[in-house]
Amino acid sequence: MTDFVAPPLNPPVRLLLGPGPSEIHPRVLRALSANTVGHLDPYYLTLMSDMQQMLRCLFRTQNPMTMAISATGSAGMESTVVNLIEPGDSMVVCVNGVFGERMFDVAGRAGANVTRVDRPWGDIFEPSHLKEALAKKPKVVGIVLAETSTGALQPLEEISKLVHEAGALLLVDAVTALGGVPVEVDKLDIDAIYSGSQKCLSCPPGLAPASFSERALQVVLNRKTKVQSWYLDVSMLAKYWGQERVYHHTGPINMSYGLYEALRIVLEEGQEASFARHLLNHKALKAGLAAIGIKYAAREGHQLPMLNAVTIPDGVDDAKVRGALLNRFGIEIGGGLGAFKGKVWRIGLMGHGSRQANVLTFLGALEQLLAEQGYKFEHGASTAAANESYLSHKA
Ligand SMILES: *Cc1c(COP(=O)(O)O)cnc(C)c1O
Repeated sequence: MTDFVAPPLNPPVRLLLGPGPSEIHPRVLRALSANTVGHLDPYYLTLMSDMQQMLRCLFRTQNPMTMAISATGSAGMESTVVNLIEPGDSMVVCVNGVFGERMFDVAGRAGANVTRVDRPWGDIFEPSHLKEALAKKPKVVGIVLAETSTGALQPLEEISKLVHEAGALLLVDAVTALGGVPVEVDKLDIDAIYSGSQKCLSCPPGLAPASFSERALQVVLNRKTKVQSWYLDVSMLAKYWGQERVYHHTGPINMSYGLYEALRIVLEEGQEASFARHLLNHKALKAGLAAIGIKYAAREGHQLPMLNAVTIPDGVDDAKVRGALLNRFGIEIGGGLGAFKGKVWRIGLMGHGSRQANVLTFLGALEQLLAEQGYKFEHGASTAAANESYLSHKA
């Protein structure tokens, strides 16, 4: 067989306004191409410590065991579940979208005796929805803070209290949340949490920030059985990320450079300023979409600022619109997943992507495509409303 030489790498330039990966900050792209050092080089070890400290700031925690798992957000999910769950342990998983569903699957595979609590997609969990499941005294309760499939933001204050009163550990998915909304690990007493590099941190996919409370770490260290996953065993990872610096696996050096720079960018801007920017652009997009009759899929008052899941108007062809957005304008948005397939669009304004220019470009392009589809609306109304929103917030 003759060798195959694939064509030169030449990825198209895209505006990534989907559910992730999000638009990468140019500083992060440059950081990725910096000189590679060894994974035990003193330079890299210092970079790891600084990265941990920046992650603690974003997670708003003092947890020593705060790090970045060398894999995507789903591995973050897997790491929290497999470390806390031993075969036969009971776990409650809250499911109101694709990622709760995924956590339910992961928990079952880890051997948990899983109780699943469902809410309609787009809705959230109220404390009362968990009372019955908590009465069974589970070991762990898992919940998604920002459900990327529906655009719903889950309040955690009351739920955290109830979970701890029931003697359980609280496990939280913050993949889309981190960097876009406050994630209060210590204040909310979250025991295990994970995120991903490619959503509001505007870094390519490949790393999963994660943090374990002291209580969670003690549960891991006192397990009767070994953690089923060698790669994700936090007790071993702790020796690489902690003082001992024991080789576990080769750290993804250049990805770490990327995340390091991405975290610097968020903290330089300031977390509050970044959250406010996400909210400003979300409000403008929402005003623009409302002006042309497009509604949100998630419950009013609980909508994510970084991920806008909206209902596709009747008679509009989902695939045609998303195809033309990509081919004509270079804009990627997300389609619906699971129960929302063909029913919603997911427009991400995450991290560096949450900018006025992107909101106005997207609305302008969308109007052209909706008009082609014969959808009736007042032409120009969306960008006008978005601009009004910006103008009123500047006053
Ligand atoms: C994207 C996402 C994940 C999965 O992360 P990957 O990086 O795709 O593995 C998990 N949970 C939520 C809420 C997400 O948005």
